[in-house]
Amino acid sequence: PSRDSISYFGAGPAPLPTPVLEEASKVLLNYNDSGIGITEISHRSPEANAILAHTQTSLRKLLDIPESDGPEGYQILFLQGGGSGEFSAVVYHMVSVWLGALAAKKQEQQGLEEKVERLRLDYLVTGSWSLKASQEAARLVGPSHINIVTDARKHRDGKFGLVPPQDTWTRTKSEDDVALTYYCDNETVDGVEFPSAPSGPNLVADMSSNFLSRPVDIRRHAAIFGGAQKNVGTTGITIAIVSNRILPPHAAMADPALLRKFGLSVGPIVLDWPTIAKNNSLYNTLPIFDVWIAGQVMQRLLDQSPAGKSPRIAEQEAESDRKAGMLYSVLDGHSGVYGVVPDKSARSRMNICFRVKGGDAEVEKAFLKGAEGEGLMGLKGHRSVGGIRISNYNAVKLSAVEKLAKYMVGFAEERKA
Ligand code: PLP
Repeated sequence: PSRDSISYFGAGPAPLPTPVLEEASKVLLNYNDSGIGITEISHRSPEANAILAHTQTSLRKLLDIPESDGPEGYQILFLQGGGSGEFSAVVYHMVSVWLGALAAKKQEQQGLEEKVERLRLDYLVTGSWSLKASQEAARLVGPSHINIVTDARKHRDGKFGLVPPQDTWTRTKSEDDVALTYYCDNETVDGVEFPSAPSGPNLVADMSSNFLSRPVDIRRHAAIFGGAQKNVGTTGITIAIVSNRILPPHAAMADPALLRKFGLSVGPIVLDWPTIAKNNSLYNTLPIFDVWIAGQVMQRLLDQSPAGKSPRIAEQEAESDRKAGMLYSVLDGHSGVYGVVPDKSARSRMNICFRVKGGDAEVEKAFLKGAEGEGLMGLKGHRSVGGIRISNYNAVKLSAVEKLAKYMVGFAEERKA
């Protein structure tokens, strides 16, 4: 089948705008009339620098990211190792910042050991990815330093599908002990999205699956990261937006020897945010093609948002809401056949997870087969939870969602008895 005849709803890697891929196929052969392809040019060439700068500037405009050398500024970093690499990077970094701050205070030197015992990393576990991140943190610094502020499964028969109310959260008592407060803004597997950012000291967010789908209050966060392969671009780069407050020279990083003394991990240099920031993401070879793709996707978003309107990403948010709203209304309107997995209060606009006839394996198979027959692809739920998952990322067109909604109505009408 041709690309045009397929509507693809995969969860990641995910669809990209066709015009970006058409242009990509040209620059792979010959970038900017240089006679050399984009994946062949040096990551330190002027062309590569221009690509890097364009992508950073576009992201700053889209998300209104403060630019300044002062503590209120943020750096935009490109890393490799995926979202999973950042699960580790955030731990190495935030622990080092926390211990660095303690060590820098002369009067705190005594009793440092006791203070380190009280170190806590606060995790909000609302789905499979924040669970994985918390498990990685426990592996790196030891389970005794991890505080699970909330585990959503405990509120819903052992399954994810809710952001539990704040009055049920157990935060670490003293904020001084908290190196980071971690949450995953959109849980790709479970279809759970935070309606708005939680608060907490040293807030870090995984936005891998809803990046660039709505405005973000950057200033509330110490750091935000996301793999590019869903809303932003191709697999291969991870974007981190990091506050200057937690980077040198505004933050004193702990000496590796001090971290080791207390049994805390020292991370690999390729995940080290200060090193990546100091080298403008060019510490080691950066896949510039992926940065270019992300820049093209961002430029399209900028072109569709009127200049002067802030935040520039508001248009995309409206479209995401509209597409998700259409799908949820079909699901709710045929509740005898379809059952949305997460609670209404935490439904994701990006990953719409549901069961057909209570999870009847034969009926769900028939749903997927019928959909494929119509060119509606990539709808199978994550292997760990089953069911159906519609990924409604930015590049999924309204017309594709309309076609899917029509199929879903037809399927429900046939099966409603
Ligand atoms: N975080 C979220 C929310 C994800 O959806 C994923 C992957 O799907 C990851 C992290 C892990 O990303 P990666 O596979 O790039 O390591």
